[in-house]
Amino acid sequence: MGLVEGKVIIVTGASSGIGEKTAEVLAAEGAKVVLAARRKEKLEDVANRIIAAGGEAYTVSGDVSVREDCDRIAEETVKKYGRIDVLVNNAGIGDKQMSITRCSDDWWRQIIAVNQDSVFYMSRAALVYMEKRGEGSIVNISSIGGVFANAGIAYSAAKAAVVAMTKNVAIQFAGKGIRCNAVCPGPTITPLLSSDEIATFDQEFMKTCNEHICRSVPKAEAVDQANAILYFASDLSKAVTGQALVVDYGCN
Ligand code: NDP
Repeated sequence: MGLVEGKVIIVTGASSGIGEKTAEVLAAEGAKVVLAARRKEKLEDVANRIIAAGGEAYTVSGDVSVREDCDRIAEETVKKYGRIDVLVNNAGIGDKQMSITRCSDDWWRQIIAVNQDSVFYMSRAALVYMEKRGEGSIVNISSIGGVFANAGIAYSAAKAAVVAMTKNVAIQFAGKGIRCNAVCPGPTITPLLSSDEIATFDQEFMKTCNEHICRSVPKAEAVDQANAILYFASDLSKAVTGQALVVDYGCN
């Protein structure tokens, strides 16, 4: 019997990195995983691998910064499996590490749309179904930037909002069968970490930020984040809600 046996779990951003590994780990623990992201082919690759390993997976492509897509991802999940037990809000884009005096309006809006609005849209869409059953769990992926604010202004703000939404949803549903927790990764080896998006555009600002981070610890691996997500998705954490768990080897 797996730790999330039979649970219907949506993982956004499942085409890469932490989301991809999370989908694999949850499926290996018995979940029926619904993989969501924009790149349909990448999602199909991940789903085929899970199915070949004996797991259950279904794909729904969509852009989680768009409300209609979020509603559709939730609807298609319920149409396929009849319910949503767990939502993992993982999709996100990397940090351009802009200080407030260097951050453009465009970059601010893009980060807020993908890293913050998506969590609001997807959670609201899933909660419609969870509330009817009085059962469910949401796991939001924030960042150490959302806890310590030592990243770009837009990224830090969006990820802090994710922690605030986590606690707010937890308060609303405390004792009502629905939990909401966050995982806050530190630097983790994924395509995001090596992409251009995370390149440092504001060297002086980041030097100041880095004074708040101990760089001598190892980087985490996607599986380290996936295991924390598994804990919040499973009934092992049935008495835990409104928590933000930092997974960063103690680099802050
Ligand atoms: P990756 O770049 O490897 O994966 C990001 C995922 O998000 C992809 O599957 C991508 O899929 C999806 N995504 C991006 N934009 C959208 C969108 N508009 N709609 C739907 N899906 C989208 O990154 P990671 O695995 O590293 O990051 C996962 C989460 O972890 C993010 O929220 C990130 O902020 C957070 N995080 C990561 C850290 C790290 O060091 N790696 C540190 C702290 C937090 P597609 O392109 O197919 O849409």
